[in-house]
Amino acid sequence: MSTPWHVLGAGSLGTLWATRLARAGHPVRLIVRDTARLLAYQAAGGLTLVEHGEATTYAVPAETADRGEPIQRLLVACKAYDAEKAVAQLAPRLAPDAEVILLQNGLGSQDAVAAQLPQARCISASSTEGAFREGEWRVVFAGHGYTWLGDASHPVAPIWLEDLAVAGIPHEWSPDILTRLWRKLALNCAINPLTVLHNCRNGGLQDHQCEVATLCAELAELLERCGQPAAAENLQQEVERVIHATAANYSSMYQDVSNHRRTEISYLLGHACKVAARHQLNLPHLNQLQQRLIHHLQSLGLPSD
Ligand code: NAP
Repeated sequence: MSTPWHVLGAGSLGTLWATRLARAGHPVRLIVRDTARLLAYQAAGGLTLVEHGEATTYAVPAETADRGEPIQRLLVACKAYDAEKAVAQLAPRLAPDAEVILLQNGLGSQDAVAAQLPQARCISASSTEGAFREGEWRVVFAGHGYTWLGDASHPVAPIWLEDLAVAGIPHEWSPDILTRLWRKLALNCAINPLTVLHNCRNGGLQDHQCEVATLCAELAELLERCGQPAAAENLQQEVERVIHATAANYSSMYQDVSNHRRTEISYLLGHACKVAARHQLNLPHLNQLQQRLIHHLQSLGLPSD
């Protein structure tokens, strides 16, 4: 029997991974928030993935954190602000040599989780796949993409990448995962907060080119200072390319705010500003952007952390 995949968080990405692994025949266990969520899940009869307009339900077994077998392989699919607390609840069940795969966007949550699990191997992921919740336990696979996985402290790839290949999850082992995470964070910082503040689609930032360019210069300075020069290369050009290529899209932060959901600001722009301060780097425009975004979130009654 192959090692089960325990999936913590039955949201968009958790469902996308759990359903594809389960349909490829891999053992999967879903870990939901509490007994009420477990009962609701059981009543629904499984996770539904909508792909190319077709819905299929997979009866993936589910459990709560406090009961079940020891966990050898854990996929953490919560938001960045929930990851540390959700993993802490599971710590007593983790095998001493457990592997923990962290799907969170941004930076900061991966280190927080790793610090509380010194014996586990923590692997970070950066994904361009897109999915959203259409209803309870029902997720739409909205954008095909790629997932890079890596472990900054240990370059050897794990054997279970084969499970992902069998499940048709496009992926690559990345020895420079930190560079990828920083690059994605920088792109996010240059685009997402401005789409919220200017209330526009990504393409709307074509009218704010100077503001974008100033932020890119400060972000590149930050990346250089924290030992990520490769992530700084041609940052402004890539930001402009992304704005153009995704002109009709609303950014994930814009969508969170317009749906009155908490954002992951602390792990994106907030993390960038925190690291800059730690390096005593003065980045006035980035700091001002953070303050404007915090005020905006507070004015809407949304958490600003
Ligand atoms: P999501 O749809 O909000 O799902 C998060 C899930 O975590 C929810 O089902 C939530 O449970 C669950 N959760 C939170 N605390 C928990 C706990 N203590 N125990 C069990 N479950 C818990 O979020 P998402 O969109 O999948 O995003 C996950 C991460 O992936 C984020 O960092 C995001 O930025 C990143 N990401 C997402 C996408 C995408 O397309 N969605 C793409 C790339 C990266 P409830 O259902 O009970 O609230």
